Amino acid sequence: MSTSSNHRSWVASANGHPDFPLQNLPLGVFSRPGLSKRGGVAIGDMILDLRAALEVGFFNGAARDAAEAASRDQLNDFFALGASARQALRSELLHLLDESSPQLARLRPLADSVLHPMAECEMHVPARIGDYTDFYVGIHHAMNVGKLFRPDNPLLPNYKYVPIGYHGRASTICISETAVKRPNGQTLAPGATVPEFGPSKRLDYELEMGVWIGPGNAMGEAIAIGDAAQHIAGFCLLNDWSARDLQAWEYQPLGPFLSKSFATSISAWVVTAEALAPFRRAQPARPEGDPQPLPYLLDAADQQGGALDIELEVLLFTPQMKEQGLAPHRLALSNTQNMYWTVAQMVAHHSVNGCKLQPGDLLGTGTLSGPHAGQFGSLLEMSDGGKNAIALPSGESRRFLENGDEVIFRARCQREGFASIGFGECRGILLGA
Ligand code: MN
Repeated sequence: MSTSSNHRSWVASANGHPDFPLQNLPLGVFSRPGLSKRGGVAIGDMILDLRAALEVGFFNGAARDAAEAASRDQLNDFFALGASARQALRSELLHLLDESSPQLARLRPLADSVLHPMAECEMHVPARIGDYTDFYVGIHHAMNVGKLFRPDNPLLPNYKYVPIGYHGRASTICISETAVKRPNGQTLAPGATVPEFGPSKRLDYELEMGVWIGPGNAMGEAIAIGDAAQHIAGFCLLNDWSARDLQAWEYQPLGPFLSKSFATSISAWVVTAEALAPFRRAQPARPEGDPQPLPYLLDAADQQGGALDIELEVLLFTPQMKEQGLAPHRLALSNTQNMYWTVAQMVAHHSVNGCKLQPGDLLGTGTLSGPHAGQFGSLLEMSDGGKNAIALPSGESRRFLENGDEVIFRARCQREGFASIGFGECRGILLGA
């Protein structure tokens, strides 16, 4: 069934919904008072309860098997089934939830038993995340941060050959709206030779996309670049909270450690590759003089349609702004087209040495800044390493985050002739140490 904008749903709030119209149908794991954790699908401001829908006989055939896997208290089993199961479930849902569904007379009386108001539900991390890897494919962020440390040589020589990444911490990945505690750690004050211990004074966010891994590979076997898309189950928003002062002191020679591992926030809904299909783009051409990717990272179809056009937004909401009745303040607007490597290249590179990727593993893209002011995905870049204060409409200013500050990410896809879809929010309030 087509995903063009003229299909409407009998779930009225879906029509014109900024995030979850009929054309999106992202999956997540939710609970409600009296209702245990289970898989669901966002439709307007409602959640379709897959377990309840199965009980009343919503699905048949391949869609039924997919819905059973997706109805559990984690989506790992569903991710493991791969693209054909995802597509079967999606096409059945597009059909069932359409306002012109021939089954409308049967389905409508069931609405109360299968749909829950999203506002009354609690969302959970949608999968058991075995491993989390954070990449660094936002080239403007890499340039901006590189300039702070090496003004004459911002990009290291490996950057245009290797999709740079490091192994992150899965245990502290938390769902949107989870409060995050400012970490303690070692920092080196400017000019000092001996570190001090205490709360981070340079707490930052990083605007990233999360990539959910589907079937994955056996240890010792690489995922070929041409097959990589088959192993990507979907996408979310990801905030890689970063303690810049801890990071500066600890990161050499093995990379980030405690500056990152205290918390990573993700948005609750897994937006599928199928829902994002209309928003695929060609990978932007590399600047003149850049090397071609090595053959194991180069695939014609991936270069032609492996990039995504997703608009990304960062907002800050301080306690004082809330007191003054102000709206959250936009700090940045960026786009996933600022990635130097595609997600397929990230997957192919990650597995090329035989490293095993498993269903429910999570990849972060790295901070997705644009090249210009107003497009920076971290405060480190906005404040030029903490040198410049950022003015807020409340009369306050920030170089880094203060306790009580709430960071909000949003994302949306727009294209003429297609329904816009969004990701829901990735939110987190920073608490004191
Ligand atoms: Mn990061």
